[in-house]
Amino acid sequence: MHKEDVKQILFTNEQIKARIAEMGKQLTKDYLGKKLVIVSLLKGAAWFTADLSREIDLPVRTDFMVVSSYGNATMTSGMLKIYLDVRDDLRGKDVLIVDDILDTGVTLGAVVDMMKEHSPASVKTCVLCDKKERRLNEFEADYVGFTVPDEFLVGYGLDYAGDYRNLPFIGVLNSSVYARTK
Ligand code: 5GP
Ligand code: MG
Repeated sequence: MHKEDVKQILFTNEQIKARIAEMGKQLTKDYLGKKLVIVSLLKGAAWFTADLSREIDLPVRTDFMVVSSYGNATMTSGMLKIYLDVRDDLRGKDVLIVDDILDTGVTLGAVVDMMKEHSPASVKTCVLCDKKERRLNEFEADYVGFTVPDEFLVGYGLDYAGDYRNLPFIGVLNSSVYARTK
């Protein structure tokens, strides 16, 4: 179980690194003079966050959350289960929520709503992948690495049942893998 289970590589490690460097440059411009705190959503965003933060040429604080959303798009922050909350004081800070992939938009929508309770100066969102077709609400991220097709992706933090996160590229998981684990 590993590389062989990926039927197509969408983005190589080189492409990912290059795109993250561009995003870092943009964020360096946009957050100059601000108090940037990245709030990274574990586990999937850990790999992206580590690389992105090193491409931002500014002081950056980093905090982590573990959340899980349930319900549908018409439900709001009440449907967000928090397993690990932020520990930094976010009052007056410029919060950038970082996630691996934006899909239905339910998770990030709820996290943004919840973040406002910390009275930050600003809240924006940044995702490595955006599956636009799957959106159930109006949510749009402020920074997007790649727009991706409606396929199940693994690698670079993205998992299937906890596996494949350490693949250095992003690829489409072979559907035979689902069949095998049933
Ligand atoms: P949503 O936007 O639907 O609330 O949730 C986004 C979350 O769903 C992501 O953080 C990720 O955990 C999961 N997800 C959505 N699409 C994919 C995918 O193609 N591959 C993987 N591994 N996770 C996905
Ligand atoms: Mg996730």
